[in-house]
Amino acid sequence: MVLALGGITMHVSHPDVPSSLRTLALEGHFSFHNISHAAKDFGNRFQFLPSAVLHPVSVADISATLKHASQMGLRSKLTVAARGHGHSLQGQAQAPGGVVIDMEYLRATETRVHAGDLPYVDASGGELWINVLLESLKHGLAPKSWTDYLHLTIGGTLSNAGISGQAFRHGPQISNVHQLQVVTGRGEVMNCSTKENADLFYGVLGGLGQFGIITRARIALEPAPKMVKWIRVLYSDFTSFTEDQEMLISEEKTFDYIEGFVIINRTGLLNNWRSSFDPKDPIQASQFNSDGRILFCLEMTKNFNPDETDMMNQVTLSNQHHFHAC
Ligand SMILES: Cc1cc2nc3c(=O)[nH]c(=O)nc-3n(C[C@H](O)[C@H](O)[C@H](O)COP(=O)(O)OP(=O)(O)OC[C@H]3O[C@@H](n4cnc5c(N)ncnc54)[C@H](O)[C@@H]3O)c2cc1C
Repeated sequence: MVLALGGITMHVSHPDVPSSLRTLALEGHFSFHNISHAAKDFGNRFQFLPSAVLHPVSVADISATLKHASQMGLRSKLTVAARGHGHSLQGQAQAPGGVVIDMEYLRATETRVHAGDLPYVDASGGELWINVLLESLKHGLAPKSWTDYLHLTIGGTLSNAGISGQAFRHGPQISNVHQLQVVTGRGEVMNCSTKENADLFYGVLGGLGQFGIITRARIALEPAPKMVKWIRVLYSDFTSFTEDQEMLISEEKTFDYIEGFVIINRTGLLNNWRSSFDPKDPIQASQFNSDGRILFCLEMTKNFNPDETDMMNQVTLSNQHHFHAC
């Protein structure tokens, strides 16, 4: 049965579902009321109410819930979805009439950085990337591959790809994972990597949450840049924009971060856009009149050490002469 209440669609699950969930012995707990947040996401287009939200304290809580769902069989129509930071656009982290697992609640794994020749960090699947970065920076390290926006969870982006301006060099975030701990659909807790349970490893990475729940990930780190030169170049011509981007990503000695954006120009947008860097000299676009046209922007950064500042300014200046920007 399906009911629509104030925009939120409610799938009435099998009547046994909530009472059967109550029988599970957990360290965490289920919520059955005031759970409408789990029926929302960033896209605000799909709103499906679950029967319950699990707030897991341990991996065993997730395992017990999935084991239970699996044992109830298909007749119960009980679906389970992990929810990271809920920044999906199309209801991917929702479970109509089922159980949503609030992964940010999971505190089973402390974020732990391992420095050394091949540094890495172990973090919970429900941890935000911003916290992983802040913890890594304490050791002078940072993840090799990021997303632009860091208030997303490890499990949420590793279930997709995790793409930003480092992907041309290191691959997306899913290419920078050494090992995962996963709870499978049957509730088994398994470690996996390229060498151990490789099918599960490659299935879960980019697996849209359909092959298991990531409870822990070991993520590759590298020395964090001490200083960064940040450049934006604006284009009105799409071909010049893509030609320059292709030229830059294929060069051996190039920037450390390269990303292209399409900008639908609105008044003031160009100088407010990404102004969190608060540049003293906002891009010359303040004199640029786009007449409402679509614009294209290449954003690049080059990492350097403080004693290389003069050299860096010269290199980036000479590079800029190669661009076909407007
Ligand atoms: C403002 C904004 C900026 C963004 N910027 C970028 C960007 O720069 N680069 C980029 O690549 N993407 C970006 N995205 C997209 C974003 O990476 C994905 O939507 C991502 O899935 C959101 O992560 P989340 O933690 O909110 O996951 P959710 O939306 O909660 O979940 C996403 C999917 O992952 C599954 N899932 C969640 N946790 C787990 C887990 N532990 N184990 C298994 N499956 C799980 C869910 O069931 C669901 O299918 C952005 C999105 C927004 C809204």
